[in-house]
Amino acid sequence: FGSLAAKVHRNPSFSTLNSDDISYFKEILGEKGVIEDEDWLATANTDWMHKYKGSSKLLLQPRSTEEVSQILKYCNSRCLAVVPQGGNTGLVGGSVPVFDEVIVNMSLMNNIISFDKVSGILVCEGGCILENLIAFLDNQGFIMPLDLGAKGSCQIGGNISTNAGGLRLVRYGSLHGNVLGLEVVLADGNVIDMLGTLRKDNTGYDLKHLFIGSEGSLGIVTKVSILTPPKLFSVNVAFLACCDYFSCQKLLMEAKRKLGEILSAFEFLDSKSLDLQVLNHLDGVRNPLPPTMHKFYILIETTGSDETYDRQKLEGFLLHAMEAGLISDGALAQDINQASSFWRIREGIPEALMKAGAVYKYDLSLPVEKMYDLVEEMRTRLSDSANVVGYGHLGDGNLHLNISTAQYDDGILTQIEPFVYEWTSKHRGSISAEHGLGLMKANEIFYSKPTATVSLMASVKKMLDPKGILNPYKVLPHSLSS
Ligand code: FAD
Repeated sequence: FGSLAAKVHRNPSFSTLNSDDISYFKEILGEKGVIEDEDWLATANTDWMHKYKGSSKLLLQPRSTEEVSQILKYCNSRCLAVVPQGGNTGLVGGSVPVFDEVIVNMSLMNNIISFDKVSGILVCEGGCILENLIAFLDNQGFIMPLDLGAKGSCQIGGNISTNAGGLRLVRYGSLHGNVLGLEVVLADGNVIDMLGTLRKDNTGYDLKHLFIGSEGSLGIVTKVSILTPPKLFSVNVAFLACCDYFSCQKLLMEAKRKLGEILSAFEFLDSKSLDLQVLNHLDGVRNPLPPTMHKFYILIETTGSDETYDRQKLEGFLLHAMEAGLISDGALAQDINQASSFWRIREGIPEALMKAGAVYKYDLSLPVEKMYDLVEEMRTRLSDSANVVGYGHLGDGNLHLNISTAQYDDGILTQIEPFVYEWTSKHRGSISAEHGLGLMKANEIFYSKPTATVSLMASVKKMLDPKGILNPYKVLPHSLSS
């Protein structure tokens, strides 16, 4: 982080916290909502990867939209910078302060407001943990349209602010489609009620989309209305091996064609991603396939409403793929425990990488046929100095290129960047498929967006947050954001 901090300077127009500020916050939130405890702050100042570290002296925990509004109104008038924080599972240094920004932690705004069983529309507060929403909906016979490895900690407000993709996007689409409404608080404390629960509403600009994926830089998401699909009971999971990347691509094309409407996930990992988990003794992870040299693994999930039909469909597809030489081995989960253990292999990769030491994470959208070339080129480039792994949401053309080393090293970083961004740009990809830009990639935005688009983004930011107090140094290039 040292080298990143060196590139960013604290915006001198921001005020420094004083005792009057603390007294005011205690007045509106009570003693309990104003956290100055050092241990608590140390955790909140540090991101999930332990890569980004701020030095905030204050964390606030509002319980209502009104309290969020009062906090922001005050911070705006005093020019105090603010970082909205959800579950702090973000992977681009967006959820922690860079300097001494006030942390607005949303975890106490965790109420479910309503659920309509006919339409499947859930309305809840922004601080609800994704896994709790999944459990709530499960009891109602519904599911969340998104699922990700960080579900036990991440919050729906954080998911929306990062436009999280995750494991089911291939089936249910992005949050731009599933989120029906939002309530947000702007930097000046104004509450904007866009909390519609209608599937169709073409009355003017659909402003909620500005806040989906804006990483807390335009407003704080306090309430959410989201469309949830019914839970279907026939779920099958297969863990397959492919001997080359071309077979993975062909398998994807075939899966879309042959499994059609029941395909609900298509994830891939290379053998190095699996080795890393086994090597690091990740709880519950073992390769279900005999230890032959397979180069790639694919996890396919189907979800439907007819057990016999779905199973036959999947088995027929697997037989066809085996005969065509697209898969070299495979296992079909026989029960829910085995299905979970297959998922654990895919979801355990970020944790295994953390156990292995330092990790440079790149979350890229690329044309599927080109995707793995980047992993191989990076391996050649770094030779023995790092462990390069590739995995991700193949069904969405989303590669997670992760480079693991014993510790962070500026020498390695200069070998990776800007090469990785230039390569992505050359292939007309995106340097952030789903994690956002945060602090890590704010200055790299031009690799994916034309100058005129970035200028328009900066104008929108200026209009909604003229003093730039909301999540400064993130998303927009530093030259345009202060
Ligand atoms: P935080 O990390 O707290 O914040 C993320 C950003 O959103 C910050 O900029 C923050 O300021 C802002 N923010 C948070 N809450 C609010 C709010 N209420 N209002 C306004 N701004 C807010 N991401 C994917 O997209 N797909 C994956 O498959 C995926 N898998 C992951 C697996 C693991 C193991 C881990 C650790 C992370 C993974 N992520 C994934 C990244 C991360 O979980 C997501 O970005 C998630 O949506 C972040 O939610 P959060 O509540 O933790 O937000």
